[in-house]
This record gives sequence, C-alpha cells and structure tokens, in this order.
Amino acid sequence: MKIVHSIDEVRAEIRKSKIAGKRIGLVPTMGYLHKGHISLVSIAKENSDFIVMSIFVNKLQFNDINDFNKYPKDIEQDIIAADSGGVDLLFIPDDSEMYQNNLTTVNVGILTGNLCGAHRPGHFEGVFTVVSKLFNIVQPDVAVFGQKDIQQAVTIEKMVYDLNFPIHIIIAPIVRESSGLAMSSRNKHLSEKHRSDALVLNKSLNECKKMIDSGYVDVKDITNTMQSIIESGSPDKIDYISIVGYSDLSHINTIEEKSIVAVAAFWGSTRLIDNMIIDKDDSGFLCIY
Ligand code: AMP
Repeated sequence: MKIVHSIDEVRAEIRKSKIAGKRIGLVPTMGYLHKGHISLVSIAKENSDFIVMSIFVNKLQFNDINDFNKYPKDIEQDIIAADSGGVDLLFIPDDSEMYQNNLTTVNVGILTGNLCGAHRPGHFEGVFTVVSKLFNIVQPDVAVFGQKDIQQAVTIEKMVYDLNFPIHIIIAPIVRESSGLAMSSRNKHLSEKHRSDALVLNKSLNECKKMIDSGYVDVKDITNTMQSIIESGSPDKIDYISIVGYSDLSHINTIEEKSIVAVAAFWGSTRLIDNMIIDKDDSGFLCIY
C-alpha cells in the first residue's frame, strides 16, 4: 500500500493505474477505521482493481466544533488496518491540501431537509463538497458508501446522477457489533453503560421489522412503539425516529413503497444513528439493516 498526502501524488498514481487498464474504486472515510470501513474496501475490491481510501476529517461537515475537536484519531492503526484490508493507495491530505479559500459548495436540495439534515445545519453541504472534490481528484469508476449513513448514501446517488459524475455508487450493508450496535468511530466515546443503553436503537429496528412482518403499515403506530423502546434506554436526547420514502426522503404516513426507517439519539454528547431499509417485492416487504 502506498501512502500519499498530496492531490498531485494521487493523480500520478491514478494515471499509472488507468494506463494499466485498472478500474479504480474509492472508499472515502474520516479514519479511526473499524470493520465497517474495511467491509467497504472488500466490496470495492469485488468491483474494481485498484482501491483508493481517503482519510480526511472534513471540518466543513461538522456543525458542532466540539464534535470535530474530539473526533477520534489513530493514524498508525488506520494505516495497518487499511493495508491489511487491501487498500492500494491511502490518501491522507491535510486541511490546506483540500481547502484553499474554497467558495464553492455542493447542495442537494430537499433530500437533506429531513432526518440528519434537519438537525445538523450545513453538515451535508460539507459532505457533498468534500465527496465531489474527492471524486474529481481520484476519478474513480466505483465508490462505496455505507448504509449506516443512509441519507448521505441516497443523496450522493442523486448528486452523482444530477452532476453526471461517471461513477457507480454502491451502498454497503451496516456492519454491527455482536450486540447489534452499529459500528461507528464515535462509539469510542461511549461509556460501558451508554454502550449497553444504546442497544435500544437496534432493538427498536428489530421491533419495527416484527411489526412490518405482522402487517403494520401505519407509521405513527410503528414510530410510537419505537419511541417507547428507545426511551427505555434513557437517551439524553432523541433527534428523530422517522420513516421516509426512499426516493425523496420525505415523511410518509403509511408504508407502501421502498422506505427508510431511521433513528438518531444522543447518549451523553455522543450522537448515534441507525436505520433499516424497507424494500418491497412481489412477496411483500423485506427489511434490510
Ligand atoms: P466515516 O469514516 O464515519 O465518515 O465513514 C466512512 C464510510 O464508512 C461511510 O460511507 C460510512 O457510511 C461507512 N460506515 C461507517 N460505519 C459503518 C458501518 N458500521 N457499516 C458499514 N459502513 C459504515
């Protein structure tokens, strides 16, 4: 694995790989890597020949400066994990390499009006700006994003379509701890008690699946039940418990088509998110989480 810090070095490596006929796969991350990130690398490897991972804690997407300041970092461990996970090129730019008097930002309109977008002003603009920059720097054929950040993934699909990026976007399944907690770099900040209390997020999705399997489609019924379950884990704050349509991420009253059930809550100052996709085929609903 080669490690580079500048955009010019990335471009030189990509040029060589493209001349050699390789398909480029990109996995953007903010580091403090866990098995979820590495699963994205494995999926990128199944769909391309030369894997670029970026590690960049993008200040532009943090609406809370304390969250940015305490974002976990361990670059030595990340290098080991990326290398053994099969990354070919690890791009670790610093702030000044990525931003120099940037005036341009990327916004994807109403898709960011609900869920995390409603609670983290400016967050998604920061995400889409950095992802667009990474797309232009790396020029990948394929880029892999996690279902864990479902609003991000769905909106990036739309951005790629709208802005004609010639990139195939893959949404990878959520990797969980054996307890059911979705893996996240921010889990490092959880106390043992909070880590166990926060399992209610996953439990609420399990219950939602059970309700859907037994024929419930009324969103209020389902989200009320989920709310009781999440409150039983004494979160410090619930940001949202929402069910939205998959294509436009707008709130729905009844589950009829492909939808997303998404939750966000705080334990202490740590904000955790989780979600489930409800897909639909001829035999009925299929819950993916
Ligand atoms: P982050 O470093 O948190 O910005 O995440 C980088 C990428 O990894 C994003 O596409 C995330 O959705 C994805 N990711 C984070 N956690 C998980 C997880 N538990 N399972 C699968 N993908 C994940």
